[in-house]
Amino acid sequence: MMTTTATSGAGAERVHVVDGSPVDLPRAERAVAELLAALGIELSDGVRDTPRRAAAAYAELLTARPFSLTTFPNEADYDELVLARDIPFHSLCEHHLLPFVGVAHIGYLPGERILGLSKLARVVERFARGLQVQERLTKQVADWLQDQLGAKGIGVVVEAEHLCMSLRGVQASGTRTVTSAVHGLLRDDGRSRQEFFALTGIHR
Ligand code: ZN
Repeated sequence: MMTTTATSGAGAERVHVVDGSPVDLPRAERAVAELLAALGIELSDGVRDTPRRAAAAYAELLTARPFSLTTFPNEADYDELVLARDIPFHSLCEHHLLPFVGVAHIGYLPGERILGLSKLARVVERFARGLQVQERLTKQVADWLQDQLGAKGIGVVVEAEHLCMSLRGVQASGTRTVTSAVHGLLRDDGRSRQEFFALTGIHR
């Protein structure tokens, strides 16, 4: 999936737009039917509509809602850590097409621009839609926010359970994978870094 970012507006309020790629539903439907046939499953009564439903489900899981982010100048010069904890998300692992589900914690030290906290959830959702690996999702959210906000520091921690681990292979049910990406002062300044990880509940 391609990600393009267009930023418009030079004034106080700035809108940041991200686009996804279109899905060919009829083709996806034929492919699911072919997959079922290859797995030895006949399209009898119960599964007759499965290719259509499965194609639609994957299309939904892989398509981001139209997304634009509005940021504002940091007029009050707020310079303490802003943290949103336990932002729920789900994504699809690009190795097995199975879901991974969890929460993200995002913190930033405001620089030139700030944004509404609820918007952080939309940023996570935007990058979770699409085939992903957790490490890249974490980094993409951090990099994108860094670019858009010009923050003095950005930290992203993602904790998730991967069904491809829980249900097959090692079958490590309940195991959560933790990844993090930090930029600026949250990477380079020991105290800011410690404060961020302590507030996320992750100690490292
Ligand atoms: Zn996987």
